[in-house]
Order: sequence, then structure tokens, then C-alpha cells
Amino acid sequence: MYDVIIVGAGPAGSMLAKKLADADLKVLLVEQKKLPRHKMCSGIISSFARRVLKKEGIGDVPDVLCCHPKKIKGVQIYPAKGQPPQKYRENSRNVWRSDFDFWLTTKASEAGADILDQTQLVNFTEEKDKIAVNLKTIFGNQKQEGRILVGADSGTSLIRRILFEDEKIIWTSVYQAYWKGEIDLDPQYLHTFLDREFSEFFALMNVKTGTKGKYIIINTNAMKGTTIPNYYNAFQEYLEEAHGFRGEKLLFKEACTSPKFFDSSYEYKFGKNNVLLIGEAAGLFNIFAEGISPALTSAVNASDVILESTDQVLDRYKKKVQPLCNSLKIGWETLLKMFPDFLQ
Ligand SMILES: Cc1cc2nc3c(=O)[nH]c(=O)nc-3n(C[C@H](O)[C@H](O)[C@H](O)COP(=O)(O)OP(=O)(O)OC[C@H]3O[C@@H](n4cnc5c(N)ncnc54)[C@H](O)[C@@H]3O)c2cc1C
Repeated sequence: MYDVIIVGAGPAGSMLAKKLADADLKVLLVEQKKLPRHKMCSGIISSFARRVLKKEGIGDVPDVLCCHPKKIKGVQIYPAKGQPPQKYRENSRNVWRSDFDFWLTTKASEAGADILDQTQLVNFTEEKDKIAVNLKTIFGNQKQEGRILVGADSGTSLIRRILFEDEKIIWTSVYQAYWKGEIDLDPQYLHTFLDREFSEFFALMNVKTGTKGKYIIINTNAMKGTTIPNYYNAFQEYLEEAHGFRGEKLLFKEACTSPKFFDSSYEYKFGKNNVLLIGEAAGLFNIFAEGISPALTSAVNASDVILESTDQVLDRYKKKVQPLCNSLKIGWETLLKMFPDFLQ
């Protein structure tokens, strides 16, 4: 039997698996996709996330994981069409998520965690002193048992939906297009546009150049069920007219579903009994889609609590993660004060 079974090999799950395996706990990390796995993302590792990596002894994001420009100097926020941007300095790194996340998963494996990829959690049952999980693998179904189960299985978390089956989640759609081409905006910034014509929340543009070529990444989002192409087309046209975007070829496009994390009705959920939720599964999300630092921080919080004792983990975890929740709340409130029309 495992001490801890973790579902999801994103930053939250891999960080937790590494920390627990370092302390000689018997850990299983399961991931439904084949590793290294692609993750739709702008791929910006914030100074907050870098600080956690350094503090936890993993070290800064290695250069070999970075694309060009390696250093991202911050965010430029365009409050409305035609208005100049406001600059916020940050000291981030620019990566491909598949490489970054796999780097962390490899750290977990090196620490001694068992990793099963192409293995999907189907359901679980809580028994007296253990949790039995049913897993679907490419070789058939299998059952594993652990004392603690941790859902690090993203914003669409199955574990969260099983634990809180009556929860009403408001879903949004996120769309991202990757272009070969040029644009007259500083590639060392993430460019964030708040105009309602371009998205229901915020539209993003950033640039990455690596061995796979140069990508201009254009991103927008809206409530699920609304016509996202209208927002996307208006945003792309505006980038062409106002910022000299010259798209030579659409290389690929993708979409995903995500909870409306910043809705006032959306609550953090940290689990039930011996089942914990960390990262996006718990609803932890920073302003402008920065989700990696809360994922890493909540993983560290959960590991601190589990390493103290595997009994009654939930109440101690809820207390431990409170400072993170407070700082995320302050971030959203500050943003709304600066841009009162945002999210109205
Ligand atoms: C378009 C976009 C751009 C973003 N850009 C940034 C950015 O630049 N910087 C930043 O910090 N954040 C960004 N984010 C947010 C960031 O990607 C997430 O907040 C972060 O990945 C959360 O980490 P996590 O470990 O909680 O979950 P994830 O990284 O989502 O990992 C969860 C893992 O669980 C697996 N999984 C799910 N269900 C199961 C199951 N049933 N069985 C087995 N495995 C399962 C998934 O396959 C996945 O690999 C962005 C998000 C979006 C949508």
C-alpha cells in the first residue's frame, strides 16, 4: 500500500511527489497523458514560482528549459482599445510547459516516487484506514491503495467533482492560436488586453522562439457556450492594425475548459477526510492566469502537513494554505481597484 497516491503530474503533483519521496514516503504519481505531456499555457514562470523552486532546493529554472527571450520582464496591461499600456515589472522565465513540467516529474522520479503515465483515475472509494483507487491504463484496469489521496488533477478535477458533487461550477472556454510571423510588441513582456471586444475577461499575447521555431501566441477566453471566434477575430484584427501583427501561417490552435476561478461564487476546496486537493484542483489561481506559483506553494503546504503526520491532514492543511489564499485574494482585489471595469 502507498502512503500517498497523487493524481496529476503537473507542477502541483510533481512537486508534492518529490517532497514526499525525498522524505522516504511510498508515493505513487499517476498521470493520464503520456509524459512528457503538452499543457496549454503561456509558459511564463513567475518570480513567485521561481522563489518556491529555489527555496525548496530544486533550484532556478535551468537555461536549457528556456526559450527565447529567456527573461520575461513583466506584464503590459492595455486597459482599453487605443490606450497605452501600463507596465508591471516582474522577473519571469519563458519555457515550454511540457519541458518544465517533465523536469519536475523527473525530480519526483529521482527522489523515488513511482510514476505511472497513460494512467487515468476513474474513481475511488474511501475505506476505514485507506483509499482504494481505480485506474485505467493502456494495459487494462488496475487498483491501488493509499492512506492519503491527493487531487492535483487540474481545474476540471474529477476528484473535486466526486467529493463535491453538488458544486455548481461556472465554466469558461480558453482558445489559443500559435502563429509563425512577426509583431511590433516587445517580446520580453506578456501583453494583456482588457478590452471587452477581445475577450470576456482578458486577452493575451506573448512570443516564444525555440528549437521548434518562433511562435506568436494569441489567447482569448469567454464563458463556455459563447462564440469565442468573434472575440478572437476582433483581437487578431486589432493586433494587425495597432501592433503590426503579420501572421504568415497558423501553426496550430487549441482550446480548453476552465472554471471561472475569479467568480465571486467560486470557492477554494481543499478536500474531505484523507483526500486533499492542491493547485488548480483546489481552485488556486493567481491574477492573469498565473497558476504555477499557487500550484507549487499548495504542494509544499500539503507536504509539510503530511510529513508531520498522516493523521487528520485536512484541518492542518487548510490552516497551512491560508496565507497563500490571502495573498491570492489581495492580488485580485488590487487588480480590480486598478482596473474597476475589469470583470464587470
Ligand atoms: C491558456 C493558459 C495559459 C496559462 N499561462 C500560464 C503562465 O504563463 N504561467 C503560469 O504560472 N500559469 C499559467 N496558466 C495556469 C497554469 O497552467 C495552471 O494553473 C497550472 O498548470 C496548474 O498546475 P496543476 O499542477 O494544479 O495542474 P495541471 O498543470 O493542469 O496538471 C494537472 C494534471 O492532471 C492530469 N489529470 C487530470 N485528470 C486526471 C485523471 N483523472 N487521472 C490522471 N491524471 C489526470 C492532467 O492530465 C494534468 O497533467 C495558464 C493557463 C491557461 C489555461
